[in-house]
Amino acid sequence: HTTSAASSFQYADLIVEPSTKKQRLPSDPTKLGFGRYFSNHIIDIDWDMKEGWFAPKIKQFENFSLHPAAKVLHYAQEVFEGLKAYHGVDGKIRIFRPELNMERMRRSARRSALPDFDTREALLLIDELVRMDADLVPKTDQASLYIRPMMFATEPHIGIGESLQAKWACFSAITGSYFNYERGIKLLADPEMVRSWKGGVGQYKMGCNYAPTIAVGKMAALHECGQVMWLSGEDRLVTEAGAMNLFVLWTNEENDLELITPPTDSGLLLPGVTRLSVLELAKEWNVMKVSERNFTMPTLARAIREKRVHEFFVSGTAAIVGPVSEILYMDKEHDILEKLHIPTLTSKYQFHKRMHTALTDIHYGKVEKSEWQRIV
Ligand code: PMP
Repeated sequence: HTTSAASSFQYADLIVEPSTKKQRLPSDPTKLGFGRYFSNHIIDIDWDMKEGWFAPKIKQFENFSLHPAAKVLHYAQEVFEGLKAYHGVDGKIRIFRPELNMERMRRSARRSALPDFDTREALLLIDELVRMDADLVPKTDQASLYIRPMMFATEPHIGIGESLQAKWACFSAITGSYFNYERGIKLLADPEMVRSWKGGVGQYKMGCNYAPTIAVGKMAALHECGQVMWLSGEDRLVTEAGAMNLFVLWTNEENDLELITPPTDSGLLLPGVTRLSVLELAKEWNVMKVSERNFTMPTLARAIREKRVHEFFVSGTAAIVGPVSEILYMDKEHDILEKLHIPTLTSKYQFHKRMHTALTDIHYGKVEKSEWQRIV
């Protein structure tokens, strides 16, 4: 293999080994679910402290071979991303704002002591991967190709310390819709369930942030809640829900109609690409006040009780925009157990729907917004 400039792998060094296997998909796209059907190829790039990045490969999607002592298996030294490619109404395939995912992945990598790489080179490789599996990008606006870049420590050494070897990889999965949007999502808000804290790593997309949420999610399911709403700190700051950002459309204490979402500078939440896009579109539309401002669960609960909350929705690549219809607020310390109903589905504004349509119109090329659409 040729070794690339140490600072990044290079698209120019790409070695392509086309897959001989073909994925078979269910004929009914509503049976796709999320992340179960994988496409035929994977990007696979090795890194070594001494040699730098090796030539990238796109090859048949198959198992990795890992040493049992590979650091990632013990200390979760792993970062990942999630973005999507869409088959447009004009037959072109578009990836949504992928440079933001690569920039975020590089920030996650830096915090995880994993090597840096060039955003542009990564994007050229992802384009190529999607082109090679282009026939698997669903030709419907009900489904898409979910792209999963990842990087992890592979050095066979169980000492806790910088890994001398790593792997950068990227595969994709053919995905249908994430939620049943008609019913609305129920969230469990319990301050004992904590995802992030000041000085922690909640703002990075590291595998270690997600493992501890699974058991908590199971607990939420016992209460018939689809997702957990993450609160942080003594004042119960509202941060995120599940693996999604969140927005509230309310009439605030000053009697203004306001779209509000927690700010990212707290370091307590992942700066979502969808979140940023919702904020940018909402500001562009200029039909209400748009704020990135902290608010607490007691403040939100009071506003819901006072019927000032019109809509509550979550945002993320998988879900796009999903309406929330209820929050189960359980605060043992303050003796609170309350079902808070939110009239998102019947709100006269239907802002979440308008936002969902605006985003999907851009995804599927029904509307031109070229800075957000990377054509592969
Ligand atoms: N928060 C968390 C914790 C997430 O994992 C994700 C998914 N990446 C999001 C929010 C939404 O981010 P995005 O809009 O970039 O998908």
